[in-house]
Amino acid sequence: METASKVLFLVMDGLGDRPVAGLGGRTPLEAAHKPKFNHFAFHGATGLVDPVTRGICPGSDTSHLALFGYDPFQFYTGRGPLEAVGCGFDAKPTDVCLRVNLGTVENGVVTDRRAGRIEDIRPLLEGLNGTKVQGITFFLRPGIGYRGALVMRGGEAAISDGDPHSTGLPPLAVKSLVPKAKKTAVALNSFLEKAHRHLDNHPLNKERAKLGLPKANYLLVRGAGVLPSIPSFHRRWNLRASAIAAGGLYRGIARLLGMHIIDVAGATGTPTTDVRAKFAAAGEALRTFDFVFLHIKGTDVLGHDGKANEKKQFIERIDRELSVPAGTLFVATADHSTPCSLKAHSADPVPLLIHGPSVRSDAVREFSERAAAHGGLGRLRGIELLPEILGLLGRTPKYGE
Ligand code: ZN
Ligand code: ZN
Repeated sequence: METASKVLFLVMDGLGDRPVAGLGGRTPLEAAHKPKFNHFAFHGATGLVDPVTRGICPGSDTSHLALFGYDPFQFYTGRGPLEAVGCGFDAKPTDVCLRVNLGTVENGVVTDRRAGRIEDIRPLLEGLNGTKVQGITFFLRPGIGYRGALVMRGGEAAISDGDPHSTGLPPLAVKSLVPKAKKTAVALNSFLEKAHRHLDNHPLNKERAKLGLPKANYLLVRGAGVLPSIPSFHRRWNLRASAIAAGGLYRGIARLLGMHIIDVAGATGTPTTDVRAKFAAAGEALRTFDFVFLHIKGTDVLGHDGKANEKKQFIERIDRELSVPAGTLFVATADHSTPCSLKAHSADPVPLLIHGPSVRSDAVREFSERAAAHGGLGRLRGIELLPEILGLLGRTPKYGE
């Protein structure tokens, strides 16, 4: 087989890291026992990716757009619309969408931004969905766990966040960023206050309080925006794509780009996810689709928690369960680094691995941040990756005579 026709596109969220003293000065990826990844690196090509561009510390949203070949500086309109689409909300082009965390507010102060990582917020949101305040209708949709989306029909998107992004502070009053958004900010603040009273008195929260659990009593909103106008993945790359991802944001981006979403039982968007089931579903999907996006979130979660050893072990589990159908172009990378030492994203470039029948191998023998710096793919910007893949599929039209 000269060239592959199918692509398995594996994104391990927040995979990139920095050397960790407890791991002998190695990164979790370097320290991990990963014979399959190393095999693919040995026979394939490696490199480094700056997901958005050099020196930018990416969010998962902007970097995924870039990895799919869409310049975030052109197409990104905020996290809210991506979350809303991911929660299954059919937003209209003028709807203002926000990401929501159900958090805990006690005595006017945020004490937990995730309400003790509450698992199901559906019943809490029911009574609030469809509420009208000052001519704006508010829709709420649950996502996974404490996450959800808030959609305002009839309002302006130029407003600030209500989420203070930290505990020990009061929730922020949403502010208008342009004069015409003033009415929207006022209505939203009034809705949030109303929602707080409703949630605080909800029987489920009274029950939680009795059990000593933090009340899920406040809608922490952020990332307001309207849907971007964006060409589908199929239209842009002429590849029929499907997506396997549990997290609302990733499903939202995939859905927005017209990818077919595949649900996998046991996929949780956490380190406990059923990695094997996800690879099995990807293998199955590759029989029908040209491009399968497989997203694994656990690496990022453990980076945020600063758990280097657990991150290493999780990478080892991915390696154990990794399976790639023969003849497939296998691309493995990350959307950004989430160094355990920072417990946050960083601008460090991420490792990239491409293996397949048409790939010219390089001298790199393992898959890691440090080794990939010597790889034949060099250093790419995220938006250069899809054109690179198209070239390896033999689908790049000639430029010039
Ligand atoms: Zn991410
Ligand atoms: Zn993250």
